[in-house]
Amino acid sequence: MKDLLIIGAGPAGLTAAIYAVRAGIECAILEKFSPGGQVVNTYEVENYPGFENPIPGWELMSAMEAQARRLGVPIESVDVAGIRKDDAADSFIVTTADGGEHAARAVILATGASFKKVGVPGEVEFTGRGVSYCATCDGAFYKGRTVAVIGGGNTALEEALFLTRFATRVYLIHRRDEFRGAKILQDRVLSNDRITPVYDTVVGSINGATSVESVTLINKKTNVQSEQHVDGVFVFVGYEPNTAYCPAELLNPAGEVIVNRDMKTRIDGLFAAGDLREGSIRQIVAACGDAAVAAVHAYAYLAEREHR
Ligand code: NAP
Repeated sequence: MKDLLIIGAGPAGLTAAIYAVRAGIECAILEKFSPGGQVVNTYEVENYPGFENPIPGWELMSAMEAQARRLGVPIESVDVAGIRKDDAADSFIVTTADGGEHAARAVILATGASFKKVGVPGEVEFTGRGVSYCATCDGAFYKGRTVAVIGGGNTALEEALFLTRFATRVYLIHRRDEFRGAKILQDRVLSNDRITPVYDTVVGSINGATSVESVTLINKKTNVQSEQHVDGVFVFVGYEPNTAYCPAELLNPAGEVIVNRDMKTRIDGLFAAGDLREGSIRQIVAACGDAAVAAVHAYAYLAEREHR
C-alpha cells in the first residue's frame, strides 16, 4: 500500500507528486495517457512565470515530468475506473479499467478536463477528417487553406492566432458580439488580417462528402442562414471535467469535484487539485497552486494518522 496515490499527470498531478515526495511521502502517479495533460497541445505558454519568452506547452510539461521523475516519482500507465474508501482499513482502493486495484492511505484527484464538443451535425462524423480540437496537432494540414474556429474564449483566440501561421483565412465564429478571451488576445486577433471575426453566429452543421467542405452559419440576431466554404473546423468551446470515475457524492451538478480551501473533498483523505475542481480558473499556475495546497494537507492527514 502506498501512502499517497495521485490520479493524473498534468500540471496538478506532477506538482502534487513533487511536493509529496519532497515531504517524504511514498507516492505514485496513475496516468491514462502520457504525462503532460492538456498543456502538451498548447502551442505556446506565455503566462507561466519563470520564462522570459513563451515556452512550447510540450516543453514545459516535459520539464515538469523530468523534475518529478528525478525526485523518484513512479508514473504508472493505467486507466482509473473507480475509487472507493475502505473504512475498515482507513484507506482507498483505486480500481482500473483492466480490473487492477491499487491501495493507498490518501488520494489526490488531478485528472483535469477535456475539450467540450459543440454538438452539431457533422461534428462527430468529421472528427479526424476536418474537425479538430487541437491546432498544435492539426494546424499544419491547413497550409494555404481556409478554416473556421468556433468559440470566443482564450483558447479560441489563441488557437485562431496560431492557425494564421498556416491557414490564409480563419473565420472566428462566436455566438455573441463580444469575445470572452483576454483583452491582449482580442487586440491581437482584431489586428490580424488573416482572421475574420463572425459575431452573433452559431454553426448549424458541418458539411461535406468525405471530409469537411463547409459550415452552415446561423446569425442569431437575424436568423439568416448562410453557407461558408472551409477546409477544416477547430472547436474551442470550453472544457468538461474528467470525473466520470469519481463517486457522485464528490461532484456538483456540472460534474466538478467540490473542495474546500484545503483542497479536501467530502471524503476524508481524498483531495482534488486543478481543472477538475469546482471554481478552478483553469490556469496552469493555478493547477500547480492547488496541487501544492492538496499535497501539504495530504501530508498533514497522513502525519495525523501515524501519530494516533
Ligand atoms: P471558455 O473560457 O469557457 O470559453 C468558451 C467559449 O466558447 C466562450 O466564448 C463561449 O461563448 C463559447 N461556447 C461555449 N459553448 C458553446 C457552444 N455550444 N456553441 C458556441 N460557442 C460556445 O473556454 P476556453 O477558452 O477553452 O478556456 C477555458 C479556461 O482556460 C478559461 O478559464 C480560460 O481563461 C483558460 N485559458 C487561459 C489561457 C491563457 O491564459 N493563456 C489560454 C487558454 C485557456 P460565451 O462567451 O458566449 O459563453
